[in-house]
Amino acid sequence: MKRILITGAAGFIGSHLCDRFIKEGYHVIAMDNLITGNIKNIEHLFPLKNFEYYHHDVSKFVHVPGKLDYILHFASPASPIDYLKMPIQTLKVGSLGTHNLLGLAKSKNARILIASTSEVYGDPLEHPQNENYWGNVNPIGPRGVYDEAKRFQEAITMAYHTFHGVETRIVRIFNTYGPRMRVEDGRVLPAFFSQAIRGEGLTVFGEGNQTRSFCYVDDLVEGIFRLLLSDYHMPVNIGNPSEITIMQFAHEILALVNNKEAHIIYNPLPVDDPKQRQPDITRAREILGWQPEVDREEGLLRTYEYFKSVVQRPNQNL
Ligand code: UDP
Repeated sequence: MKRILITGAAGFIGSHLCDRFIKEGYHVIAMDNLITGNIKNIEHLFPLKNFEYYHHDVSKFVHVPGKLDYILHFASPASPIDYLKMPIQTLKVGSLGTHNLLGLAKSKNARILIASTSEVYGDPLEHPQNENYWGNVNPIGPRGVYDEAKRFQEAITMAYHTFHGVETRIVRIFNTYGPRMRVEDGRVLPAFFSQAIRGEGLTVFGEGNQTRSFCYVDDLVEGIFRLLLSDYHMPVNIGNPSEITIMQFAHEILALVNNKEAHIIYNPLPVDDPKQRQPDITRAREILGWQPEVDREEGLLRTYEYFKSVVQRPNQNL
């Protein structure tokens, strides 16, 4: 049985990866320190014989007994308000944490895939973004702690590949959504869904004409699975190229939730908020034969089912 270590396993994406690799018949070693993860996301796996959980901060030395075939490094605060609250942990997990896991990969002769991000492109001056674009990042702005940690992560991963011959994979993840996103993580989809369900104002930042491209989590997981098993070590964008403005997104969620009390309110645009973002997925199509299959209508419906179960409508029980 193949053994895989997944860091950030109790997080939104990490927990879906645990499910997928369990389904594929792997022995999954899950690791998290729960600063943003939620143990409930993986609780259903605890009874399984081929699942283990370690409570650990990967910024400290990582020890895993026995053989390891694969490592997926997905630990990090990942929403703008989380990394503003935890700037040092964000920098450490992307740098020291990645260094520890690359060292572990080297000593176990394991293949390692690291979770990078569209944030390496910053507020992009090229559109859509392909993997050859170097980005437009403010190193000392509020997002710098995340963006630069992830850029360092890519650099050290390539160095371990080049100098130590470690088998490395780099996925650049664009905005992803689905069940198990944390309600209060401040990202646009949990914010809008919870506000719409509660009949509050949907907090559109700025005028809402900034764009994003949202990928359903199952599509992302399929892309990661294919990349891990491929023989390609250069970065690959995984995301859904269907781009919309945040204002359109707010209206789609208002229409879906259909709560007469819900409405739109305007809040200031955060500093360095990227104005547009859309993945060029030519490389993923050509190398992995991958493209997203779940459109936004279907993905939002599935996600709404989840948010209905975790967000209470006011007066629901009256
Ligand atoms: N946003 C918004 N209202 C919110 C949260 C976010 O209008 O309550 C906007 C934010 O300014 C950004 C976009 O939605 O332009 C996506 O934000 P998110 O935090 O989800 O992720 P990002 O892509 O910025 O990392």
